[in-house]
Amino acid sequence: MRGANTYLGSIGTTIFTVMSALATEYQSINLGQGFPDIEGPADVVQAAADALKDGRNQYPPMPGVPELRQAVAAANKRFYGLDIDWAKEVTVTSGATEAITASLMAVLDPGDEVVLIEPLYDTYVPVVRMLGAIPRIVRMVPPHWDLPRAELADAFGPKTKAILFNSPMNPCGKVFTTEELAFIAGLVERHDTYAICDEVYEHLIFDGARHIPLMTLPGMRDRTMRIGSAGKTFSLTGWKVGYVTAGANLTPLVQKAHQNLTFTTAPNLQRAVAVGLAKDDAYFASLAGNLQARRDQLAAGLAAVGLSVLPTQGTYFVTTDFTPLGFNGDDVAFCRHITEKAGVTAIPVSAFYDEPDAPRHYARFAFCKRPEVLEEAISRLKRHFGA
Ligand code: PMP
Ligand code: GLN
Repeated sequence: MRGANTYLGSIGTTIFTVMSALATEYQSINLGQGFPDIEGPADVVQAAADALKDGRNQYPPMPGVPELRQAVAAANKRFYGLDIDWAKEVTVTSGATEAITASLMAVLDPGDEVVLIEPLYDTYVPVVRMLGAIPRIVRMVPPHWDLPRAELADAFGPKTKAILFNSPMNPCGKVFTTEELAFIAGLVERHDTYAICDEVYEHLIFDGARHIPLMTLPGMRDRTMRIGSAGKTFSLTGWKVGYVTAGANLTPLVQKAHQNLTFTTAPNLQRAVAVGLAKDDAYFASLAGNLQARRDQLAAGLAAVGLSVLPTQGTYFVTTDFTPLGFNGDDVAFCRHITEKAGVTAIPVSAFYDEPDAPRHYARFAFCKRPEVLEEAISRLKRHFGA
């Protein structure tokens, strides 16, 4: 039979699926794929249950239910001082994953170049390629993950249509500074391009650091598509409700992409997320505060196991260098090994690189788990490595 899609035929199954399947097979503690092991806020879950029963279960409006678009606009104002017209500048999607694809579709023509920053989330490159566009990848290097400004500037050229980046950043926990964002904004303006900002971890940020959306910088308001995810903000990753905030110039294009991808998203979940976004500031502060305590717990535990733990300022994740353990093998082998032999699963960081020359001695562990689960994972690793 004739070959089907060549590109999809050439890529593997996502690492998150692979490692979660392995975790199930070996019944290990899954600190791989990033999902909390507690339910999200009870009032938000209750709102979703109630909304199923009040007769609004047919197709919701294509751009999203008004309640949620209004709530996204209000959250933009509350957290970042952005004035957003909910009717013209907000699109609800089926998760940030769809939002990323719809935003790329909104601006790219085949042959356009997109600047990406490694390590990168694993859907970015496949989607850019499937749209017939060309990834131009710039690499940040551990342990400091500094933005390589000269290389970034070199990556922008006459064919560049957009930059797509993630802050706070999965897997490394980097939060872009105002200076770094200003540098990116300068390139975006100079080269007359767009920016797609994956800000799914906007509220999962630690040590008093502040998340700054690129969209708030001068000149960026109409060039930026800002992406959020209810999955992360309400610890309900299975809900897959995302949102794109973009100027009235770009939003119609994002919506035309969305109408051809999924058209709409479950109405009860949308309405419940609107309830969530209206929660008081204390909710958002405790979300970050609790997670910061889990970060500290896991980081201290992994250091006691003997791993070299890199700092993380946001997200669900801590990156570790396992070289000090003397393990004989790369990161994929290490993550398999600890799953099978120690009963703890992590994600090999090389999965966040496109090129074969990725670093291969880092493993990412998720700390969005109950304290007793993290404790048990640390004990298992200590026992296994004789720490
Ligand atoms: N971007 C990044 C950086 C992520 O880590 C995730 C996590 N799943 C997503 C996008 C996708 O978010 P969602 O589950 O809302 O599709
Ligand atoms: N974002 C999650 C992570 O980085 C995984 C999401 C997924 O499995 N698609 O672990």
